Amino acid sequence: MAIIQALRGTKDICAPEIAYWQRIEAVVRDCLGRATFQEIRTPIFEQTNLFERGIGEATDVVSKEMYTFTDRGDRQITLRPEGTAGAVRAYIENKLFAQGGVQRLWYTGPMFRYERPQAGRQRQFHQVGVEVLGSADARADVEVIAIATEILQKLGLKNLSLQLNSVGNGEDRQKYRAALVEYLTPFKADLDQDSQDRLERNPLRILDSKDKKTQAIAKEAPSILDYLSDGSKKHFDQVQTSLTALGVEYHLNPCLVRGLDYYTHTAFEIQSSDLGAQATVCGGGRYDGLVAELGGPDTPAVGWAIGLERLVILLQQLAAAPVNELDFYVVSRGEKAEAASVILAHKLRFAGCSVELDLSGSAFGKQFKRADRSGAIACLVIGDNEAENNQVQLKWLQTKDQQILAQSELLGNIDQWRQKINQARNQA
Ligand code: ATP
Ligand code: MG
Repeated sequence: MAIIQALRGTKDICAPEIAYWQRIEAVVRDCLGRATFQEIRTPIFEQTNLFERGIGEATDVVSKEMYTFTDRGDRQITLRPEGTAGAVRAYIENKLFAQGGVQRLWYTGPMFRYERPQAGRQRQFHQVGVEVLGSADARADVEVIAIATEILQKLGLKNLSLQLNSVGNGEDRQKYRAALVEYLTPFKADLDQDSQDRLERNPLRILDSKDKKTQAIAKEAPSILDYLSDGSKKHFDQVQTSLTALGVEYHLNPCLVRGLDYYTHTAFEIQSSDLGAQATVCGGGRYDGLVAELGGPDTPAVGWAIGLERLVILLQQLAAAPVNELDFYVVSRGEKAEAASVILAHKLRFAGCSVELDLSGSAFGKQFKRADRSGAIACLVIGDNEAENNQVQLKWLQTKDQQILAQSELLGNIDQWRQKINQARNQA
């Protein structure tokens, strides 16, 4: 029979790769938890118009990349392509604003975009994201950027660069947009097709075209930074001063406009030079217009999203997958011994030990070989004799020392035995 395979652009995540994911999730939870961010879990599918309104119909995401379908009740539904629109919908629907003050939210989970799959680009991929809602203060921008750099640093990543820009407020952008269109129009025929189409609809996006010829033209374009109002300039200066004071290096990049329509003021990306074409690991910025756009009260906000597949690629380049620590490998042979081994393994786990139970029923020699490969510190052996006498043979796998003990002696003093296990692990 034909084997059914996973869909193009989707991937199973198995051991040992899963260990990288778990490490990333642990670091993220720790960093965000200490910074008082609350996790939020929103549905994976939403009404299509949430994304049309929240992301913008002229964006690549909405115009080309969404997984949209009609359900059996004739509803237009989309698998979420990103997390911000859903988080903001939830913020409004659950009236989180009514609690007053600032809400710091974070999420993680799969996102869906119909794109051409390649290294670091999938159709189902995963993001971690944060949203700080309710503060227009430049310190909020700096806080989220600093936390992104903290997470990446704690994961041990190097060769990262923070690209920073301001896209000002709506009025600044109107003025800039006019200047940009005036500059680009004479070059229209030299722009790539997408950019030609964008000239009227979404000209700022031409600045981050991936086409070489368009990029060369965009490089000479007027800079949005020359079109910022005094208020926008002040906000951006505060962001930069504070980042410098924190020792966070950044590069101004006036071509960085991000793909989404709702961004205002600060826009940023963190890129890695170790990723080839898919270099951006984190993208974010301020989106003061979105909450009102989606029907909530006027609420300034800032956030980012990190692409986890790209982090995993970087971690794989750095080191082999971390292995889970194993305390005991339990080996047994014979009916009575096998029955006893299940109970011993269960009790040891209940007492907090990590224990692998050999279920093969094969000869002791084969089981010992597996014990050696398992990474356990000690092997526990139950044969007919031990089973008869409620004993167990403990073999230290490093030194090969062994001793016979009563099972009650092991279980009754498990804290001391765990200390010995940890000592042996540290000496290894
Ligand atoms: P790109 O220019 O790489 O398409 P983007 O601007 O579309 O990125 P965002 O919408 O800002 O990306 O998403 C934030 C992050 O999510 C990206 O920086 C990237 O790390 C990750 N990401 C986005 N799309 C994908 C994808 N299809 N596969 C894997 N990761 C992705
Ligand atoms: Mg994209």
